[in-house]
Amino acid sequence: MTNKNEFLLALGLVGVQGLRPYEPGKPLEELEREYGVTNAIKLASNENPLGPSPAVFEVIGQSLKDLARYPDGNGFALKRKIAQKQGVATDQLTLGNGSNDILELIGRAFLDTQSEVIYSEHAFAVYALVTQATGAKAVVVPALDWGHDLDAMAERINDKTKVIFIANPNNPTGTWLDQVRLKRFIARVPEQVIVVVDEAYHEYIGEKAYGTAISWLTEFPNLVVTRTFSKAYGLAGLRVGYGISHSAIADLLNRVRQPFNVNSLALIAAEHALDDQAHIDKAIELNHSGMHYLCEEFNRLGLDFIPSVGNFVCVRVGKQAKDINEALMRHGVIVRPVANYGMPEYLRITIGLESENSRFIAAMEQILKSINN
Ligand code: PMP
Repeated sequence: MTNKNEFLLALGLVGVQGLRPYEPGKPLEELEREYGVTNAIKLASNENPLGPSPAVFEVIGQSLKDLARYPDGNGFALKRKIAQKQGVATDQLTLGNGSNDILELIGRAFLDTQSEVIYSEHAFAVYALVTQATGAKAVVVPALDWGHDLDAMAERINDKTKVIFIANPNNPTGTWLDQVRLKRFIARVPEQVIVVVDEAYHEYIGEKAYGTAISWLTEFPNLVVTRTFSKAYGLAGLRVGYGISHSAIADLLNRVRQPFNVNSLALIAAEHALDDQAHIDKAIELNHSGMHYLCEEFNRLGLDFIPSVGNFVCVRVGKQAKDINEALMRHGVIVRPVANYGMPEYLRITIGLESENSRFIAAMEQILKSINN
């Protein structure tokens, strides 16, 4: 019998056999079962603790009667809404089963075994997965102060470079890029290289303070900006996100996607979620105050953290990160270890409700005390 790796190689599955699946946050039910705790809280997956807009529940209820029907494969109504909101044309849009789907489509459309893909150390895990799944070569550029080193990334571009992934802000570090520098970087990238600016957490930093790469689409035909309804819009469970690009790129991405990649409930929920700006404002406000609280508490406890503009923050707990994570779980608190992101001394905490944040801090304080004794 041939060994497994040889067999996979014989199948020509270059890249895929080395894939390590994405590690999601532990589900609440699993933790409660495993640790025998109740009322566990999850601060591990950068979800919106408020959930979606109440309007979403209503419209989903009304749509249930149509579940036997296929969704609108072109997502006409949602695209029209997004186009209006973002000031782009509908033919510049690609809808995805989460923005992960868009990242996958980019891999499928532009990468093969001869390609190189550039992304930063500590960047969002799916960039590595997309790259490896296509058999392309990953060019991982060392981070600068936990963030993207744009100059070093630019230096790694060569004839084989096909895609550059940039998360702004980045997950899990929460670091962000100055828009002037980011734009200057994109201007340096040759037009045949696709630059993906992943703005999954954009809503949390806000347009005014910060701007968006969407406004540069007219200048850079090789730019793809991705957005999601999973974070501030509170629809992670439904899976819907989108890409905005030149219409020629959107056309390619739409050709490689599944015909009904976004389900009907996700389409209608996203459409109505976009209307409820007050709900988004509330989520942003809650996030800001929660972030402020956690950072103050980290200071009080003498813990370093990486300043973040997302809805999560990485705190340095040292070599015992794994044990502290375990102990937190015994307290019924799920956070995210980030050793697989090359950050073995850190834990990533998603900003939750006020009561969840303080419960996490109380657990943390107890754990640190027992370790130091
Ligand atoms: N980009 C970044 C930077 C993320 O952190 C995430 C979610 N963890 C995604 C994209 C994908 O999210 P979704 O597929 O739910 O839109």
